[in-house]
Amino acid sequence: MSVDPDDLIAVVRYALESTRATMACPFHWDVMIRVGDDAAESHAWARARNIIKSDGTKWKVEALREEFGQQLGKAADGCCPQCEHARACGVKTS
Ligand SMILES: [Zn+2]
Repeated sequence: MSVDPDDLIAVVRYALESTRATMACPFHWDVMIRVGDDAAESHAWARARNIIKSDGTKWKVEALREEFGQQLGKAADGCCPQCEHARACGVKTS
């Protein structure tokens, strides 16, 4: 695992990306796409809940829930909006 367990934003991003609940657009690295897979999102949640900080504790549920909401809320839904404008969206949501 190559994530700083003490960095909440990094932990949540890692959990979401590694379970493919979200992915970066292959053409726009700064665009996060919410894949819309409920199973992947619960898997991501479980993964984040199991990450242990350097002081031996886990992240608080409320803090995790808030950051999950932030990152999923900011992510584009299913398809990169910049690619969509270019009519070249290659991201499959199903
Ligand atoms: Zn894109």
